[in-house]
Amino acid sequence: MKSIVEALPLLKEPKRVFITTHHKPDGDALGSSLGLYHYLQQRGHHPVVVSPSEVPDFLMWMPGIDTVLNYESEPGQCQKALQESELVFCLDFSRLDRIKSMEEMLRNAAQPRILIDHHLQPDVDAFAYGMSEPDKSSTCEMVYDFIRLSGGEQYISNNVAQCLYTGVMTDTGSFRFPITTASVHEMLADLKRRGLDHAIIHQHIYDSWSVERMRFLGYILYQKMEIYPKQQVGIIALTQEDQQRFKVATGDTEGIVNYPLSIEKVTVSVLLTEKKDEVRMSFRSKGNIDVSSFAARHFNGGGHFNAAGGRSRESLAATVSRLKSLLGIDTN
Ligand code: 5GP
Ligand code: MN
Repeated sequence: MKSIVEALPLLKEPKRVFITTHHKPDGDALGSSLGLYHYLQQRGHHPVVVSPSEVPDFLMWMPGIDTVLNYESEPGQCQKALQESELVFCLDFSRLDRIKSMEEMLRNAAQPRILIDHHLQPDVDAFAYGMSEPDKSSTCEMVYDFIRLSGGEQYISNNVAQCLYTGVMTDTGSFRFPITTASVHEMLADLKRRGLDHAIIHQHIYDSWSVERMRFLGYILYQKMEIYPKQQVGIIALTQEDQQRFKVATGDTEGIVNYPLSIEKVTVSVLLTEKKDEVRMSFRSKGNIDVSSFAARHFNGGGHFNAAGGRSRESLAATVSRLKSLLGIDTN
């Protein structure tokens, strides 16, 4: 993978650009993709954003979200967009298996792939150019860096600013995780000086829950959260029945994994969500506990030091019991 600086000449002339991000896209995935989309559009390019799966409801307000193609529901159109493109940007993921069913299509495409990402262990051979910086708060912050690197500060429109703010806000837990560096605050100051209304974004994301979602959270915290003080662990395991009962939609479980960490002395939190053919897992930690390596070693996943994901093909009960034994929780 060559430095992204070497890819800048490719953008001298207007290009058709395919932008994609990881499966089950979150605020940083779509914020960075749409932030780059609005930026490239203003510079005369023709970008299109393709998501490997459905866009969650809580991001439906984002500027440009209505243009995002979903590979799961419209594979033909996505394939056409890729065929017509001259460059591919891969945002907020570091290995092609993170785009699930789109992997083969992208792997076989001849266009140069450009990576902008902050996950650990990037597959550098899969990308022609890129920036991989695990010390960065978010891919949105890196897109901001990329815009400045390409001399485009004057193109940071309100749309660009709203999208980039979203990902920095969600990936830093509203600017409180240790990854929130001085450069994050400098970026925010710059966006504010350009006129960004940040309060409306917090409202869109955090104060727009459905009643069902709020009741679902109440049910989880009251009935489903298990706390193990000796091991300093919180575990939440959601069955398919739990999700059906509260009509859980894509994105409704976002953020739930953080709640156990608000309890004194809990340093690791795991959310397990039973899906049709696998169990999805989210790991979060406080301080010097590396959940990324844990997820990679035991649950076919990865991510960041304090926030990672993984999966299991065993049943929910078997996965919970394996997890507990790995964490030294006595299940007898
Ligand atoms: P979440 O728990 O919110 O799904 O994921 C937490 C973080 O880990 C996100 O940055 C996400 O992109 C990353 N992540 C989730 N699953 C995986 C995975 O299977 N592999 C890798 N490398 N990263 C993951
Ligand atoms: Mn991210």
